[in-house]
Amino acid sequence: KTKDDKCSICMSDFTDKKQLKCKHEFCEQCLKNAVKHGGPICPICKDVFGVMKGNQPDGKMTWNKCQLSLPGFPGCGHIFITYNIPSGKQTENHPNPGQYHSGAVRTAYLPDNKEGNEVLLLLKKAFEQKLIFTVGASRTTGADNMVTWNDIHHKTSMSGGPECYGYPDENYLSRVKEELKAKGIQ
Ligand SMILES: [Zn+2]
Ligand SMILES: [Zn+2]
Repeated sequence: KTKDDKCSICMSDFTDKKQLKCKHEFCEQCLKNAVKHGGPICPICKDVFGVMKGNQPDGKMTWNKCQLSLPGFPGCGHIFITYNIPSGKQTENHPNPGQYHSGAVRTAYLPDNKEGNEVLLLLKKAFEQKLIFTVGASRTTGADNMVTWNDIHHKTSMSGGPECYGYPDENYLSRVKEELKAKGIQ
């Protein structure tokens, strides 16, 4: 027997073997448990095989366009996105159910060119799947029960470069597309 004959989650013989579209195989129950904790992602190759749903609290995403160009993207103006997540009570999908989390209002910038508009649509999809924000401790202040970013990086400043979460940053759009893809958004 090769190790391919065993489930790589429980390391035992398969029980009710289930194959994903990436061809990796697991016991049905092992896979169910993995999905419960990590979402519909293959535990071996990280291929997303279902719609990921995050625990972002209810809120609004709006955007507008402005003629002013961002550093590194001359002549195309920019898109500014506003996210508004009001304060509220945490549900059983959050770290402290029943407790309040404070809200957040965040602004982010994209160039108003073809790729920037592609990223805008992907971010909109991610927002609808509740993947842009989560609830937890703030990475900057350590304060608990905060609405925080969920590993999809945003440019919250127009200028100042990467150190200031701004432009110019040549590879930002391709990086954020990779981050979105890791959550099944493409
Ligand atoms: Zn198993
Ligand atoms: Zn796989």
